[in-house]
Amino acid sequence: MTVKVRFAPSPTGRIHIGNARTAVLNWLFARKHGGRFILRLDDTDVARSTEEYALGIREDLDWLGLAPDHSFRQSDRLASYDAVVERLKASERLYACYETPEELDRKRKRQMARGMPPVYDRAALTLTAEDRSRYEAEGRLPHWRFLLEDRPVTWHDLIRGPQSVRGDSLSDPVLIRGDGTYLYTFTSVVDDVEEGISHVIRGEDHVTNTAVQIQIFEALGDHVPTFAHHSLLLGADGQGLSKRSGALSIAGLREAGIEAMAIVSLAATLGTSDMVAVHGEMGELIEAFDLEKLSRAPVRFDERELRALNAKLLHSLPFEAVAARLAEMGVSGGPEFWEAVRGNVETLADVRLWWDVVTGPVTAVIEDQDFVAAAVRSLPSEPWTVETWREWTGAVKEATGRKGKALFMPLRQALTGLEHGPELAGLLPLIGRERVLERLHVKR
Ligand code: GLU
Repeated sequence: MTVKVRFAPSPTGRIHIGNARTAVLNWLFARKHGGRFILRLDDTDVARSTEEYALGIREDLDWLGLAPDHSFRQSDRLASYDAVVERLKASERLYACYETPEELDRKRKRQMARGMPPVYDRAALTLTAEDRSRYEAEGRLPHWRFLLEDRPVTWHDLIRGPQSVRGDSLSDPVLIRGDGTYLYTFTSVVDDVEEGISHVIRGEDHVTNTAVQIQIFEALGDHVPTFAHHSLLLGADGQGLSKRSGALSIAGLREAGIEAMAIVSLAATLGTSDMVAVHGEMGELIEAFDLEKLSRAPVRFDERELRALNAKLLHSLPFEAVAARLAEMGVSGGPEFWEAVRGNVETLADVRLWWDVVTGPVTAVIEDQDFVAAAVRSLPSEPWTVETWREWTGAVKEATGRKGKALFMPLRQALTGLEHGPELAGLLPLIGRERVLERLHVKR
């Protein structure tokens, strides 16, 4: 069987870390099995879908390294949906209903008051042709429901194991609204059939949809895909992540300096039996990936964990991986600079601080002028290398008798104006003799 999966966001907002996790799981599944990864834009809700969000979603996927093999949008597929609707009407699996939202609401309240589940009572099935004409003469437009068969729906979920949903717990789903527009429940099945989707990997908020959609797949007489429902991510507050929480959007995280591979690594390992760990490239994640490793329990997303992974990733990145971005930032220190400071950054933007420390101006902190004057007298002549710091401090130690913190801290403070920072062995040759002398300048 050819593996073909899809990621199907609605372009009604930017994707957040929770959606991105669905995309990552689908992408990895496709790559693991030599399959295809499709982007489907669920844009049948014309009022809320925008071109800007559609473009934003593609940009986010590309940036994450999850570029789709193929993409399409539901609004381009209306003719296919129309054709399938005709088939379902002909086989009497779609029936016209005329209840207003208020009438449906009253029915549900009555059922609940009697302790019954609020399942649609199928009153519309008993309407006569005259009833229908009368409603339409009143100006009511029909919405259309799919007639479910009254039997349990079962499937083997690749994450949740065997699943069974009772038929009498489900309302016949509305597939077409009164204004003639289609609902996702329907269009998704038509697309999955026509695209030949082999596996549907999505959040567990869709489990009830799956029960209904399996009956629609069967009514269309086609193959039913294999399903896998992953648990949902919770925010640090234990609440679900909302699409509109901008700070956790992929765009927002990128803006905040989080690396794509930190996000992808977290999304791929969170809630699995593997340790959460950062990977520098996709190959390792594909290698380790297995849907069976995913736990059914909800998973907490902690931004601090993401930041820690981000820092860890940066600490190991070679210069070539960041060269272009450093150049864009106007940081020209080359591999020597990157290797000297990468262990001291949480986000790439943090290099700015260390670049300023190298290039100055720096307000030197000098408490003991005599000590600094002795250090100046021991300063080696150029050219300088990463060995120069050891030579210099060895000579200063000899000359002043100081060692340990008493030796190093005043030099660090004088050279950088700070108490902490990257190893001075790496920074010293970048700062260079001229700037060192300027900073150590002893006032008389
Ligand atoms: N548009 C749906 C969503 O974003 C797609 C669900 C699915 O994968 O079928 O939740």
